[in-house]
Amino acid sequence: MAQITIDHVTKYFGDAKGVDDAHIDIGHGEFFTLLGPSGCGKTTLLRTLAGFYQQEEGSIYFGEKCMDSEPAHKRDIGMVFQNYAIFPHLTVFENVAYGLRARKVSKQDIERRVSEALEVVELSAHRSKQPAQMSGGQQQRIALARAIVIHPGLLLMDEPLSNLDAKLRLKMRSEIRALQKRLNITTIYVTHDQEEALAVSDRIAVLNQGRIQQVGRPHEIYLNPVNRFVANFIGSTNFIDTEIMGYDPATKKANMRIAEQQVSVPLDRAYNGKALFSIRPEQLKLKKANTDSEVPSVVGSITEVTFLGEKVEYLIDLKNGQTVQVNDHAVSYSELRGVGQFAEVCFHVSDAVIFDEEGKEAI
Ligand code: ATP
Repeated sequence: MAQITIDHVTKYFGDAKGVDDAHIDIGHGEFFTLLGPSGCGKTTLLRTLAGFYQQEEGSIYFGEKCMDSEPAHKRDIGMVFQNYAIFPHLTVFENVAYGLRARKVSKQDIERRVSEALEVVELSAHRSKQPAQMSGGQQQRIALARAIVIHPGLLLMDEPLSNLDAKLRLKMRSEIRALQKRLNITTIYVTHDQEEALAVSDRIAVLNQGRIQQVGRPHEIYLNPVNRFVANFIGSTNFIDTEIMGYDPATKKANMRIAEQQVSVPLDRAYNGKALFSIRPEQLKLKKANTDSEVPSVVGSITEVTFLGEKVEYLIDLKNGQTVQVNDHAVSYSELRGVGQFAEVCFHVSDAVIFDEEGKEAI
């Protein structure tokens, strides 16, 4: 049984839908991320779960209990916000103790539980300090300790790392991930940063314009995006216009014209006509001189080379006028190519995802 069920929830702002028919089941102990561009409805869905907003349609269940008429303070939720929302006039200890005092927990238990929470976030030595004396990362840990000290059934985090510099963000994200696993708290995490989502999540829901586009594990979303939006939002990809012909139901294969080439492609269903071939830069390779290769390839000329050490990014103009990015390696001078050179770009059809012409769904 899912611990959290978001059952076809729609939240309106006037006539507009902030969240449109969201349906998600989240398991106990899962680290679940809502990911999408600004304005896609992540915060609205999180606030609806927390009880700060009331949805107009659908229901929210924690276990079997319907939360629809449960006020926010009775939902057993810990929250961490982007701006930390810690009280500047209270010490670290008092900030963390705040939720327990509000719940009338005994003095003795407050001392024990706050000490434990500060231990978990490694702030025990700072318990008497004011937040202003602490770094950004430490302030975020105060917010984290304050959220976990109440032993919530559900932890909600809204862009908790976006006020930190890049290096600290990386450090804090692995700390949050490790802590969540250690405490086994079901967590719903909001971010617009796709790399952060891939790094921390058990599963991700990708949202666009209030609607859930895809729910899956990080590698599923990356390797099998269900539509053009997801393929483009997660990582980067090349979209190449193609045409599919002669689908054979017996073999479930069709012919695809890509640039100058005809390639046989497996398809799950009958499709003929224009299509969109999506392949990631690291799934394309430049054919090395004097090597035989069985895999399909298209030819073009190199227009840009960006040497980044562990990889080299090439932009290549194909003969059909389209440009593709290839991320390849150059482990020696002889492997490095230059602008203007001819290039043969190889790929495995099975690595690619093929969408209908508008990119609405994979075929
Ligand atoms: P961001 O990453 O920028 O925080 P988000 O994905 O969290 O964006 P939301 O804040 O949930 O997006 O907003 C979803 C949509 O609902 C947006 O179009 C936004 O303008 C609208 N919206 C959000 N809050 C309100 C509100 N209180 N009143 C009216 N419209 C709102």
